[in-house]
Amino acid sequence: MIYKDHTLKIYNSLSNKKETFTPIEEGYIGMYVCGPTVYSNVHLGNVRTFMSFDMIYRYLQHLGYKVRYVRNITDVGHLVDDLDEGEDKIAKKARLEKLEPMEVVQRYTLDFHDILNKFNLLPPSIEPTATGHIIEQIGVIQKIIDNGYAYVSNGSVYFDVAKYNEDYEYGELSHRKLEDMASNSRQLDGQSDKRNEQDFAMWKRADPEHLMRWPSPWSDGFPGWHTECTTMSSKYLGKKFDIHGGGMDLKFPHHECEIAQGKACTGHAPVNYWLHANLLTLNGKKMAKSSGNNILPGEILSGKSPLLSKAYSAPVTRFLMMQTHYRSIMDFSDEAMLAAEKGYNRLMKSLETLPKIETGKVSTLDIAEWRAKCYAAMNDDFNTPILISHLFEGVGFINLLKDKSASLTAADLDLFAKLFSDFVYDVLGLGVAFEIYDSRTEKLKGTINLLIEMRDLARANRNYSLSDQIRDRLAMLDILLKDGENGTTFDY
Ligand SMILES: [Zn+2]
Repeated sequence: MIYKDHTLKIYNSLSNKKETFTPIEEGYIGMYVCGPTVYSNVHLGNVRTFMSFDMIYRYLQHLGYKVRYVRNITDVGHLVDDLDEGEDKIAKKARLEKLEPMEVVQRYTLDFHDILNKFNLLPPSIEPTATGHIIEQIGVIQKIIDNGYAYVSNGSVYFDVAKYNEDYEYGELSHRKLEDMASNSRQLDGQSDKRNEQDFAMWKRADPEHLMRWPSPWSDGFPGWHTECTTMSSKYLGKKFDIHGGGMDLKFPHHECEIAQGKACTGHAPVNYWLHANLLTLNGKKMAKSSGNNILPGEILSGKSPLLSKAYSAPVTRFLMMQTHYRSIMDFSDEAMLAAEKGYNRLMKSLETLPKIETGKVSTLDIAEWRAKCYAAMNDDFNTPILISHLFEGVGFINLLKDKSASLTAADLDLFAKLFSDFVYDVLGLGVAFEIYDSRTEKLKGTINLLIEMRDLARANRNYSLSDQIRDRLAMLDILLKDGENGTTFDY
C-alpha cells in the first residue's frame, strides 16, 4: 500500500495545527462531509467546497486507503437564520412556489447531482437524507435526554449547552468560550421555549400549518438541523470516525453542535480530524444574488452571465479551483478563468505529446526527485497549487525530452507518464472530460489519416487537383499536412 510510504499531514481545525494523519483502523478511513440543503440551485461556493473534499477523497484512495465517504442531503430542519428561528428553508421555498416540499427536494437534489457530475466529482459511498433517518434521529435525541444533556419544553427538545459545558467544553472547535457567547447574545424574550439562548433545537414542535412533520414522543414535529449529521455519521461511520469536513461557515454553530451531541451521546469525541474548506469570492467580493455579484456553476459552462466574456469548460473551472489551496479564500473572475484556460490547455497539450517521446539509454532527468516533490505537496495538507507548479515543471521536462535536450530510460519514462496520469486524472480529477476529448481526438486522428491515404492515392494517380483539394480543405480547418521523408504527418 502506498500510504505506508507516506506521512500525510492534515490541518485539524480542532487543534488549529497540521497533524500527522493516523486512521482509527489501519487502511480504512471514514469521512463525513456536510452536504447541501436542497432548496435552491447549488452555489458556486458549495461546488468549491465539495470539489475540495472530492480531491481529498481521491487522494486518500490514491494512497491505497479504503474510504467510506458519507455526504448527506439536508431535506428538512435547516431554518432560514441557521439558528433556531425562522421558517424551514425547504418549506419556505415550497410555500412560495406552491410545491410539495419533496418536489423542492427532488428538483434541487437533481440539480446538485447534475452539476457535481459535470465538474467530475465522484459520488460519495453513501448519500443519506435527513427525512430518511427520522426514527434514528429520535433515538439519538432520546439518548441525549436520558444522559441529562437535553430537555423537553412545550413539545420541542433543546440541547442544554450550560449543562454540557459543566462536563465538557462547548466552543472547542470554533475556539470560543461559552461565557463570552452568553454575554454577547440577546436575552430571551420570555416567549422562547429555551432555557438559555445558546441552547439549540434537536426537535421542534410543528405549528398546525407546517407541512413537514413526523410523530415523536414529544410532539408532531421535525428534527433540528444539527441532529441529522450526528445521527447519520454515527450510523454509517461509527461512534468515532476519522474525518469530518464541511465549509468554513459550518464550523459554528453546526459542527460545534455536532461535537456536543456526539459527546453527550457517547462520552467521547465523535471525530478525530475536522477539515474546513474556505470561501469563494467573485471579483474580490462576497457573492450575493441581491447585488448581482453572483454566478451559477451552470452559467460558467454556458457562458450566459454578464460577468463572463465567454463559456468555459468544466475541467478548466476545476483546474482554477485546484490552483488555490482548499483552506485559502479563492477568488473567481473572468480574468482568472482566462488564465486558467491557458494553463490547462498548455498542460493537456503537453501531456498529449508524452506518448510520442522516444526512450533513451540513460536518464538525464531525476524523476524520483520530481515524484517525491509531487507527493510532498499533497502530503502537506493536500497542497494542490504546489502540486500543479510541479506538474508544470514536468511540462518543462516534456519540452526538453521533445527537443532531445534530455532523455529518459523506458522505465523512467513509464514512471513519469504514470505519475502524470495519477495526479492529473485521478487526484486532481481533470480526467473524465479529457477522456471524452481523447476519444474524440482519436476519431479525428483516424479520419485525418484516412484523408492522407486518399490524398496519397490521388497523387499516385496524378490527380493533383484532388490531392490539393484535400490539403487545402484541411488547411482551412487549421489541420496542416507536412510531407516528409517518412510520409505525410499533420499538425492541428
Ligand atoms: Zn452537517
